[in-house]
Amino acid sequence: MRQVDESAPSQELGEEDVHALRQFLASLGHLDIRERGGDSLEQLQIGLANFQRFYGLKRRDGVLDYETKEAVGWPRCKVQDVGIAFVAGRMIVLQDCPWGRDPVVLRYAFHKSAPQHLRSPVESAMRKWEVASKSKISFAATDLMNADFTIGWTPVIIPGEHNLCGNFIAHAVFPCEAMAKVVHFDNSELWAADMAVSSYNTQAVALHELGHTLGLMHSDDPDDVMYNRFGVNSTVKLLSNNDKVRLRDLYKIP
Ligand SMILES: [Zn+2]
Ligand SMILES: [Zn+2]
Repeated sequence: MRQVDESAPSQELGEEDVHALRQFLASLGHLDIRERGGDSLEQLQIGLANFQRFYGLKRRDGVLDYETKEAVGWPRCKVQDVGIAFVAGRMIVLQDCPWGRDPVVLRYAFHKSAPQHLRSPVESAMRKWEVASKSKISFAATDLMNADFTIGWTPVIIPGEHNLCGNFIAHAVFPCEAMAKVVHFDNSELWAADMAVSSYNTQAVALHELGHTLGLMHSDDPDDVMYNRFGVNSTVKLLSNNDKVRLRDLYKIP
């Protein structure tokens, strides 16, 4: 039997689990699998330590303890936490990026996949960001042809960027990314217009995703709406002071 380091994350993990964990960490930007040696167990442990640090977990040494395992399994947004992204064959460094227009009027349209009763919760989330921007930013409904971004519910079987399998339940596209701007919710999950047992609160998740639409990346503070964790049966978090300050900094709102 091969000897394994006591503290290696591979402990109690089969080869398939190690592969899945590696892909997971890479998709959030905590592990660079394109790097030389990126597929080694040492790199996996470094990636896991990055993940633990970002999410404010107790362990920060890449050891896969119970809390870390749980955190890996949290329902979350698929947008990268940190790092670089390859978008349409182009490498971009991810950072907060605003829409370059003044006034900031963002035209949106719902794709036909968006259930009627879940549209107003999404619009309520828009109103919250508008208020936080002191009305410098506004969202305006239009049709799919003229929209700056669209909102829909997608099936998990879509391959590539839009795949929301596993515990990824939504994603959105930043203003600076060279691809169609969307907010997508996973239609294989249960969604409610409000707080409901076993369902995701649409407004709560929309508030987070619209933060990305406005150009904000994830926060490492659990009190922020931009922290990357969702749960079923949850209330709508208020935008934290930090969420608001980041938005106002990004759009130079005094
Ligand atoms: Zn997110
Ligand atoms: Zn998508």
